[in-house]
Amino acid sequence: MRPLIYAANWKLHHGPSAAREYAARFLELTRPVPDRELWFFPPAVSIASVADVFRCRPDIWVGAQNVCWELKGAFTGELSLAHAVEVGATLTLVGHSERRQVFGETDEQSARKVKAALASDVTPLLCVGETLAEREWGRTEEAVRRQLDPVVALVTDAGERARVLIAYEPVWAIGTGRNAAPHDAADAHRFIRAYLAERGWPGRVRVLYGGSVNAANTLALLAEPELDGVLVGGASLTAEGWAEIVGLGG
Ligand code: PEP
Repeated sequence: MRPLIYAANWKLHHGPSAAREYAARFLELTRPVPDRELWFFPPAVSIASVADVFRCRPDIWVGAQNVCWELKGAFTGELSLAHAVEVGATLTLVGHSERRQVFGETDEQSARKVKAALASDVTPLLCVGETLAEREWGRTEEAVRRQLDPVVALVTDAGERARVLIAYEPVWAIGTGRNAAPHDAADAHRFIRAYLAERGWPGRVRVLYGGSVNAANTLALLAEPELDGVLVGGASLTAEGWAEIVGLGG
């Protein structure tokens, strides 16, 4: 069985106390499984409490949902990678569709965040994916290429490239209850790997799928060998529900 990553994106849910309770309950419900990593992206203010509770579990990693490309300075409201690392983050999401669609993050800004994360020894999980309109116009690959290109241009070191993970998250599938069909997700993952490999990236970039993953569809999605794991929002919000999902597959 290939190694799998189960990543939970809590979005704007679970402040420090609720996050600590969730993490403690999750510890009661799960045990480490070989070749399975569990990644958590709590709100920034909850990273410290989640990292603290999970310190005893080598299979669990904690990260930020968004970071600034600068470590310090006049960037009101941003999260410094240095500060995130100080409270226990070893990962970060970059370019989640909510950052792009709601907050206007550009492809170039996402690329700068990937580069900054790598410089801080934080693993970036870059989110890419097409909107519904782009899908209907047959422009899925074009959209994904547009999001990848600035990263390809900025991250040129082979060692750094090997540390970047991609999450394929079609925007129309996020929070809608409508997941991509497993074979469609697999096609997109294959395309992403081939596109990056043609540009000198390692052949087997790890690619997760995200978009309305739940306990009912996880197994079918992970049956596709192109998927290295899942990135999950809504269905990761309770310890019980998430423990059930991370127990599936493999
Ligand atoms: C996400 O937030 O990245 C996500 C995929 O959300 P959901 O699982 O709720 O669609």
